[in-house]
Amino acid sequence: MKISPLSKITLDGREFLVKRDDLIDPFLAGNKYRKLYTLLQTPIEKYTTIISYGGTQSNAMLAIAAMCKTKGWKFIYYTKPLSTQQKESSVGNYANALALGMEHREIEHALYRDCIASLRLNLDEATFLVDQGGAVVEAQKGLEVLADELREQLNAHPEIKAVATPSGTGTTAFFLAQALPEYRVYTTPCVGDAAYLKEQMHALGDMPKNLSILQPKKKYHFAKPYEEFYAMYEKLKGEGIEFDLLYAPAMWQALLEQTEEKILYIHSGGVSGNESMLQRYKVN
Ligand SMILES: *Cc1c(COP(=O)(O)O)cnc(C)c1O
Repeated sequence: MKISPLSKITLDGREFLVKRDDLIDPFLAGNKYRKLYTLLQTPIEKYTTIISYGGTQSNAMLAIAAMCKTKGWKFIYYTKPLSTQQKESSVGNYANALALGMEHREIEHALYRDCIASLRLNLDEATFLVDQGGAVVEAQKGLEVLADELREQLNAHPEIKAVATPSGTGTTAFFLAQALPEYRVYTTPCVGDAAYLKEQMHALGDMPKNLSILQPKKKYHFAKPYEEFYAMYEKLKGEGIEFDLLYAPAMWQALLEQTEEKILYIHSGGVSGNESMLQRYKVN
């Protein structure tokens, strides 16, 4: 793999660098590529099957489906029941993941928790379970590789002392901060608030000192359409780079409102989910 390049983008008169992890692959890109790095390096013979669970528009689901396709592994994905409309939609991550060979299994709401818990207890040696969102401790190695790339590329930009990437589970920001102690790592919670994010990160280890959580000024619910997120998406696209609609707008907003220094933004991918999200913006 060639290392992903850097681009420049100007927003509100400020110049930012962007690490183009979105360009790694159409489906297996961004932080999901980084988080699946260890599995991607695993010899094909080690597993026959990967299982995971979570939302049906998830970027992690699509990335795992793309990985399993290239590896020849079977991929079984568990979710709560889907609406007919979701099942029939021909766009978005779900449709793409099915086309890549994903086997989808629905679990009734009442049984969901117990069923997911039992997956872990019934694993054989040839089956690997990826937790929701790809929040595996194995993600650490992939983020060390990202940190090495950044270190090398930032040699040419000594004025940059900070990087930024948005958080869902916080796995990416946490391991990146740990692997890149000489840079400040900014993140913002996109699922829940800062307290919830810290709790998630504590499960991975002690909070790295260089990690700064920027709390959004307003409370947002994950994956809901917001006017200002759409406006930010359009503004970024107008400057030449497409970002996702769920995470990136909140991160960019926090950077513009709450920071002043020169920052490198790590594109976390997820652009493949925009088509279905844009449909929801049009409906509302
Ligand atoms: C999954 C995802 C995130 C969140 O990553 P975490 O490691 O769970 O914090 C951020 N941005 C995009 C585009 C994602 O798909």
